[in-house]
Amino acid sequence: MKTVRAPLAVPPLIARKRDGGALTDGEIRALVDGAARGTIPDYQLAALLMAIVWRGLESRELVTWTRAMVDSGDRLEWSALPGSTVDKHSTGGVGDKISLCLAPLCAAAGLYVPMMAGRALGHTGGTLDKLETIPGFRTALSPAEFRRVLTRAGFVLAGQSARLAPADRVLYALRDATATVESIPLIASSILSKKLAEGAGALVMDVKVGSGAFLPARSQARALAHALIGLGKRLGLRVRAVLSDMDQPLGAAIGNAAEVREAIDILRGGGPPDVRALTVRLGAEMLALGGRVRDLRTGAQRIEAQIASGAGLERLRLGVGLQGGDVRAIDDPGRLPRARARQVLHAPRSGTVVHVDAGALGRAATLLGVGRLRKEDRISPGGAILLHAKAGTRVERGDPLCTLHYDDHARAHAARALVEGAFRIGSSAIRARPLVLETLG
Ligand code: URA
Repeated sequence: MKTVRAPLAVPPLIARKRDGGALTDGEIRALVDGAARGTIPDYQLAALLMAIVWRGLESRELVTWTRAMVDSGDRLEWSALPGSTVDKHSTGGVGDKISLCLAPLCAAAGLYVPMMAGRALGHTGGTLDKLETIPGFRTALSPAEFRRVLTRAGFVLAGQSARLAPADRVLYALRDATATVESIPLIASSILSKKLAEGAGALVMDVKVGSGAFLPARSQARALAHALIGLGKRLGLRVRAVLSDMDQPLGAAIGNAAEVREAIDILRGGGPPDVRALTVRLGAEMLALGGRVRDLRTGAQRIEAQIASGAGLERLRLGVGLQGGDVRAIDDPGRLPRARARQVLHAPRSGTVVHVDAGALGRAATLLGVGRLRKEDRISPGGAILLHAKAGTRVERGDPLCTLHYDDHARAHAARALVEGAFRIGSSAIRARPLVLETLG
């Protein structure tokens, strides 16, 4: 006789979490399973997520929640590979294209990087949305495809799918559209479920601090880093956390195709100094964690060498080709999409740019189509903000501060107001903020 499962009564569970109570392991498993299978409606999941933003998850709940997210799909395993698997993940930033250059560089330096990345989230950009601006590039890979690309290229850049961390795919899209990103347990479980499902042996976390981070205060970033390290320990994943500055955007480009172009510039030996410096630093951390080098200095030299020789760029070409992408876009980034219109914003007065608010620019970029306001929104591949001035730049009245690239005039109008408020110009010089604030784990 067929067993009939009683439908899960979700409202009492939401209410218990709303009122500060804890959920049992069985309830958590049923909720996460229902999210992955699509048997719990979005409105109930969204209410539950908001209750978790307010009430949090206690340590046992977080471990069970994360395990359930991993168990919602397959878990890959790489013991047969002839090298260590190490991944990097960012807690979310504006202009953060590091993964695009870091993964091929680390692969060229001898690591295997099985990177399961995300889409734009809140005001921050998403690696998958950036990659999909390369014509033909596929981010939804079956486990067999994931394995083939990783084995051949030494890295793979893919998204959650029906087989890999499907619960995160559902919850991530809902959080993006319901202001439920800013929660330590939700961020930690989202990231680590992907990393455990992809089978990484170790993980370098880039935990962002500043106006463009989900948790802007350094104390919150530190708490998130400790949560990631502690959760990793309980679930068998070595995690090292690097707290890095996200008070202003990283590099000069914010936008999907624009950031792919900037990442290619880095692999060609050019690009903005902050993007290069963070790429080299995180690469050194990954090589050290994976046992490829004794210390960070040697690791940094190894990454620099992969840039200088062009080996990193060659790996990117290989990986893009294996994932169905048109490698001509790597050789000639002019082939990547551009938006139809542009407008330049000029400095209203002379002085020094003392702050470029990454959060405001991220929200403006979302309006330009770099991210989504609703789950079903389509990304604008060419929508972008290109910065001509960053914190510390001396400008004269009328100098260009940035250029907006857009397809939709009404949205550009709304974005412009945010962008104007994002640049603060003062009369005295400022001291540069360090790019890396501290490392933990
Ligand atoms: N990156 C993720 O994968 N998930 C989050 O919740 C935040 C950043």
